[in-house]
Amino acid sequence: MYSTFDEKQLKLENKKLTREVKRLKKDNEMLRIANDQVTHTQAYIQRDVNRQVFYNNQLMRTLPFILILTDDQLQTVMISDVLLKLSGKFRKEQIHMGVPVSDVLEGVMGEIDLHIVLEKCATALSGNPVEPYIIRNTLLPDKPDWQINIRRMMSGDSMVGLNIMFVDMTDIVDAMEQARAADQAKGNFLANMSHEIRTPMNAISGMAEFILRDSTDEAARSYANTIKSASGTLISIINDVLDFSKIESGKMKVVYEPFEVASMLSDVVVMTRIRLTDKPVELRLDIDGNLPAALYGDEIRIKQVLINILGNAVKYTRKGHILLKVRCDREDDKYCCMKVMIEDTGLGIKEEDLENIFSSFTQVDTRRNRSVEGTGLGLAITKQLVELMGGDIWVDSVYGEGTTFTYTRKCQIADPTPVGNIEERMSEVRSEAFRAGFKAKGARILVVDDNDMNLEVARGILTPYDIEVHTAVSGAEALECFSRHKYDLVFIDHMMPVMDGVETLEKLRRMPGGDSTAMVALTANALNGAEAEYKALGFRDFLAKPVEPEKIDDILRKYLPKGMITETKAVVVAAKPPENEAAEKRESSSDGILDTATGLKYCMGNSSFYGEMLDKFASEIRDGLLEKLYGDKNWEEYRLAIHTVKSTALTIGAVSLSENAKALENAVKTGDISYLDENHPALIKQYREVVEHI
Ligand code: ADP
Repeated sequence: MYSTFDEKQLKLENKKLTREVKRLKKDNEMLRIANDQVTHTQAYIQRDVNRQVFYNNQLMRTLPFILILTDDQLQTVMISDVLLKLSGKFRKEQIHMGVPVSDVLEGVMGEIDLHIVLEKCATALSGNPVEPYIIRNTLLPDKPDWQINIRRMMSGDSMVGLNIMFVDMTDIVDAMEQARAADQAKGNFLANMSHEIRTPMNAISGMAEFILRDSTDEAARSYANTIKSASGTLISIINDVLDFSKIESGKMKVVYEPFEVASMLSDVVVMTRIRLTDKPVELRLDIDGNLPAALYGDEIRIKQVLINILGNAVKYTRKGHILLKVRCDREDDKYCCMKVMIEDTGLGIKEEDLENIFSSFTQVDTRRNRSVEGTGLGLAITKQLVELMGGDIWVDSVYGEGTTFTYTRKCQIADPTPVGNIEERMSEVRSEAFRAGFKAKGARILVVDDNDMNLEVARGILTPYDIEVHTAVSGAEALECFSRHKYDLVFIDHMMPVMDGVETLEKLRRMPGGDSTAMVALTANALNGAEAEYKALGFRDFLAKPVEPEKIDDILRKYLPKGMITETKAVVVAAKPPENEAAEKRESSSDGILDTATGLKYCMGNSSFYGEMLDKFASEIRDGLLEKLYGDKNWEEYRLAIHTVKSTALTIGAVSLSENAKALENAVKTGDISYLDENHPALIKQYREVVEHI
């Protein structure tokens, strides 16, 4: 029998159990659902993994370049099929198991290249970046040229291996090679052509020189003058093209030597002032006194850059000023940044033209600039030179208002002493310009010399004395002048063709008034004992060529009638030779081609006169004549021509050329033909360098 209590208890238990069963059923259902979901997710993940593997395989199969993924021990994890095929030694599964990279790459490239790749991999593994680089497969010509990229693979913060990529560059490298070869061929062609054109041009100007020397026909002389000046212009264009092609073909080398900043800038300023003499444009200077006294670099090329930009400023500025501003930021005692700004108040450049201004053969605004000469190569050469020397150049301009070119260059310092006030020093040199100590109004002098330039120098030197100067280019012309005029003094060049100085002197002496007129020899051979020698020949005195302004003062005082001389108040500060060697070094150009301080000294410190003499020297183009005489073995005439080079070169400050000409002249005198054969070509080359430099 169940008691009522038990029955109740059982019912209660039963209810509980039913609830528990229900809950379990629900849990079970939940578990089933969860299980279903897990299975589903697993299937999904599996599908995803399969998909990833599929895509990876697909990628590796179709990648057109070599890709190697490695672990941090440089064992392969995956490689692209391109490498699998190229290597031919492994199956895909082996690769996944891990093969040393060196084994997979064996035979794909030369041993040395492989060694380099492995070294770069080690660098990348150690955490340092590796720049992409190209290897030419010259050792295995059937294999491609590769561009190689090596990068680390990171997972969060930790490095898991390398990603190495080899891209086949054979076609691109070949195309680049072909383009470079074509460019080189073009450059060589330009260089050869310009050289080939120069040779006949020299012959043309040499022949024109012959006509000028031998012909008395005015029309023929005028044609010959035009031929000479046109060939001069053509040669300067050819020189531009030659410079340009030298740079293009990589043949232009820049040197790296110490040079004096003050002397470099002073040359640039003198050259610019010379070009400005007939323009209402002022050259202003603003030069940082803190510039180091000497820097390392290629002085000639730096000057070429500055003179090009300043030359353009002169060409394109009609009025106002040109400002040459030089600044220097010293980083330490070893390096500084030199900044040169050349600002003009000229025509300016249109904004749309600014980007083309440095391109070769480009002249902008041609309609407006029609009257200005140029090839459009100047700035292209300038920019390339600047870049060759590791500098930078840019332009700012406002059309109609003016232009500023800025040139900067990091320089190594050779002498950190500050240059100080360069402008003051330059103006000191200028104030040393020759001023005649007296006037000799009414005096008349005859100067006889076969060389035009010497005659002009003499005329330039005598003009400040208010003297009437007559000139004669030959002994015969001198006799004619002497028969028509009375002279107080006659200067006669010693070495002249046809009738030399001594013969001319003898003939003049026999003419009426010849005995009483003082006759002074002009000579470029002023050796010790020359005075006695010339006096023995019948000259009253002698004057060395090029004539130094202070010497002429003495000679004039000595031989002009006293009554003609009126002292002026001006102190004679004849372009003094520098007082000591250090000063001489500082003031003269050290480029070895033109010593502007010497040139200025012989030109009375007058930069515009110096400019005329430079022009004259450059337009005489005597190399053609020298070449012809040398070729004809016409030693007598060759001696005269080289003698002239000796004295005219010194007049413009081409000291080394003058000395070399002197050595050749001596060789002709002593009949040392082998010396001539050895040194004539070098002299011609040097002569052309001087002319180019001018
Ligand atoms: P070009 O031999 O014709 O002078 P450049 O290469 O030296 O050739 O100069 C290119 C062009 O840039 C010139 O034709 C001229 O139009 C312009 N240019 C250069 N410098 C200046 C300047 N300072 N002011 C105005 N225009 C300039």
